[in-house]
Amino acid sequence: MAKKRRGTGDQQLASAEEHAVKSESLFEAKQYADAALEAEKALQCLPLMARSSLTRGRALLYPALSKMVQEGGLPPAGLLEEAGRHFTLAVRLDPECEEAKGEVDSLQKLLSDLPQDPAPASAAGKEPSGAAAAVDVIIVGAGAAGVGCALMLTKTFGLDASRVLLIERGEGVGDTFRRWPAEMRFISPSFNNQGWTNSFDLNSVAHGSSPAYSLHAQHPSGGQYADYLDALASSAKLNVRTLTEVISVKAEGGKGGPPRFRVGVRSQPGSSEHAARRPSRVSGPRPRFPEDHPRYVVWAAGEFQYPREGGGAIAGAELCRHNSRGPFSLEQTLGCTLLSRSLAVIALVSRFASLPGDDFVVIGGYESGADAAVNLAKAGKQACASLTSECRKTSD
Ligand SMILES: Cc1cc2nc3c(=O)[nH]c(=O)nc-3n(C[C@H](O)[C@H](O)[C@H](O)COP(=O)(O)OP(=O)(O)OC[C@H]3O[C@@H](n4cnc5c(N)ncnc54)[C@H](O)[C@@H]3O)c2cc1C
Repeated sequence: MAKKRRGTGDQQLASAEEHAVKSESLFEAKQYADAALEAEKALQCLPLMARSSLTRGRALLYPALSKMVQEGGLPPAGLLEEAGRHFTLAVRLDPECEEAKGEVDSLQKLLSDLPQDPAPASAAGKEPSGAAAAVDVIIVGAGAAGVGCALMLTKTFGLDASRVLLIERGEGVGDTFRRWPAEMRFISPSFNNQGWTNSFDLNSVAHGSSPAYSLHAQHPSGGQYADYLDALASSAKLNVRTLTEVISVKAEGGKGGPPRFRVGVRSQPGSSEHAARRPSRVSGPRPRFPEDHPRYVVWAAGEFQYPREGGGAIAGAELCRHNSRGPFSLEQTLGCTLLSRSLAVIALVSRFASLPGDDFVVIGGYESGADAAVNLAKAGKQACASLTSECRKTSD
């Protein structure tokens, strides 16, 4: 049967080729009516091509689906996309091919049932759009380093801003600066020396920009500095996804070339996605993979965002206040999704002066420790900073 079909198919293709060649000659000879007739005959092989496209899509998809059913997990990167392209092509070649239309519908349904990997949405003929479209670079963290890096890639090296995605777990650009205690100030003075590098501002993250100039402040507060970063990101139209925490990065492939990365995220309470998808009151971390495989991942999540707790840390470290401990790391600690932020707030210091109690021990006597001790003392509290190195011993 297959042999017979192949015979018929071969004949169809051969005669299609003959008609195609003939129609081109007729066209060259300006015999347009005959050229159109011959071309029409050549096009009669389109349903055959459509069948091939359908079969190729199925041959890719079906084994991957049965593997998924038997072993769980997701199909290899790009596979659904390729199968989808073939089903769509089959429909284009033969709009009456009901089987191909059925495959497009089934694949679309499958994709909507796999919310953790919507990237191949283009698979079933949909164009990728917005943040789900392919990106070349994912930058984790929209703080000073993340925004500076994104500006360098887009403004200096000319990458399209839509190809660079910043993923930020906080509510906005410069989130950690917004968590600074109200009294805290930048240590390095911001000033603008136009004559030298165009902007010699020690706190600048992008060539030609200056917090001193835009904030009119020599020692900006955290909130002011976040405004500066936010303004840079908005004016450069950077692609920032907020309230989204990166929870895993995996390298894939790489045998025949450089690896691609799979970036797992979960949305934070407050994001519209989170509200829509939260399955129950308490849920463990559930990774989603919103981006298809970027070629580069830049970790700009902040050196001090992950305080040591548990093994390796001092006993009781988790009881101490640490500014980077927001709703996110508390969630990790508790292993569940917090429904309210009130629990998290106790971990933050929004203002030293309004902290309850009068006696404080600050562990560590470097920039943050000294800053905390000075500001607590200014607020009339007893503060003792533990110093970690000889050179910082002082009699004051
Ligand atoms: C008192 C004090 C004074 C200072 N003064 C100066 C100064 O004068 N000049 C100066 O240059 N520096 C100063 N610094 C240091 C400066 O604040 C830090 O060097 C700077 O914030 C580091 O920037 P970053 O982008 O690496 O990290 P951050 O600013 O901490 O940004 C990291 C971002 O990543 C996000 N993030 C973390 N984990 C994830 C995740 N898993 N998924 C998604 N997002 C994530 C965070 O929410 C955050 O927005 C000072 C610091 C202190 C404490």
